Amino acid sequence: MSAAAYIVVLGAGESGASAARLARRKGHRVFVSDAGAGQERYLEELRQDGVEFETGGHTEDRIFSADLVVKSPGIPDSVPMVERLRAEGIPVISEIEFAFRYAPRGAKIVGITGSNGKTTTTMLTHHLLDFAGLKAVAGGNLGDSFARLLLEDETPDIFVLELSSFQLDGIEKFRPDIAAVLNITPDHLDRYNYEMERYADAKLRISMAQRRDDQLLLLRDTEVIEPALRRRDAQSQLTTIDATDLNGDGLLVDGFEFSLQTGLLRGKHNALNALFAIRIALMLGVTEQEIQLGLDSFSPAPHRMEVVPTADGRTWINDSKATNVDATFFALDATEEPTVWIAGGTDKGNDYDLLVETVRGRVHTLICLAIDAKKLRKAFAGVVPQIHATHSMTVAVQLAGYYAEAGDRILLSPACASFDLFKNYVDRGDQFREAVKTQHA
Ligand code: ADP
Repeated sequence: MSAAAYIVVLGAGESGASAARLARRKGHRVFVSDAGAGQERYLEELRQDGVEFETGGHTEDRIFSADLVVKSPGIPDSVPMVERLRAEGIPVISEIEFAFRYAPRGAKIVGITGSNGKTTTTMLTHHLLDFAGLKAVAGGNLGDSFARLLLEDETPDIFVLELSSFQLDGIEKFRPDIAAVLNITPDHLDRYNYEMERYADAKLRISMAQRRDDQLLLLRDTEVIEPALRRRDAQSQLTTIDATDLNGDGLLVDGFEFSLQTGLLRGKHNALNALFAIRIALMLGVTEQEIQLGLDSFSPAPHRMEVVPTADGRTWINDSKATNVDATFFALDATEEPTVWIAGGTDKGNDYDLLVETVRGRVHTLICLAIDAKKLRKAFAGVVPQIHATHSMTVAVQLAGYYAEAGDRILLSPACASFDLFKNYVDRGDQFREAVKTQHA
């Protein structure tokens, strides 16, 4: 987009405010409209860059005269405003699509999506590249938005972007040189009319603009991902990542065996994430030896299978970020130790049957941490010998300490969102870590 246009940005959060500032810097006329109150730090950035905005409602005249609307990922396609804009022929695109138009030529773009593991894989990929001395930055759905990364004076050679399905909903020409789809399991189905196919199609949009020389990495999955790929008819070079490439702690890639033993990544799910990151790093020219050193020196983000150090002979694990059944499945399945499992919260229509076989014989105590524990109790009655319920993290940790013996594992992996009792998953994980440290350090 070279000619100056009138661009309206819906939503004044990290993505929206940065997209608006980018648009302004590129010489466009910009107006930001946020139906909510907006966050002060973003509003301040808009003021400083001289971008006009409104909060607490949308002024239709100013929005419906736009040449182009950039939508924050938090706003679903189905809101009446977006539907009407489209009906009137005004293009509505996502911040990722908009930012892509200004990505420096020659820079490589890596896009990573999936239901679970996006943050871990994005951070690991970035670490492997950075550790090998490449000029790479990470962002997107984590940390800085793509638009903000492009506002920096110095541009990197490689952008590693975590992409949610919401961000992918509004893309058209966004074309990552390397795209990865880590897995597709039920989550956020509410935004896709409870249709798995639609959710899978949204994730596969990541490859829609790719050309023959671009790379697409997918988990081998004949039920969801591969059929979705056939519906899309992708042009890209395909690499499938397969659980059979795992050999205990060893990861086999093109005849080379990488090891996770010396690093901090635990569990089969992280081994799969690592396989993706390794392949991406290899494609970008990092050597096997550099990758192994990168794997050894990587620290995963907190709240994802984070071990809380104690001296009581038991292993306390904070996996508060596990907000769906699939993430919790991998957490439970990661080791064979007798387990006290702390779970529950706001249920997003979970099917706990998927966990029963993993839980049986492994979990001896379930502590339900939720306003409403009925569904969890019912699902595991007769499977787990002891089930308790509480509304308090302090009490949950006390109960866990009481029932766990030396050598046991205590796992907070809720399989649910946190909003019934906590501000968010970070608050839930922080409270767990604090309670464990206070009671058992
Ligand atoms: P996302 O950014 O996609 O939410 P995270 O890396 O933050 O992913 O991990 C979210 C949760 O999912 C954590 O509980 C983590 O242990 C679990 N997880 C990570 N990778 C995978 C995977 N490949 N498959 C299933 N669960 C995973």
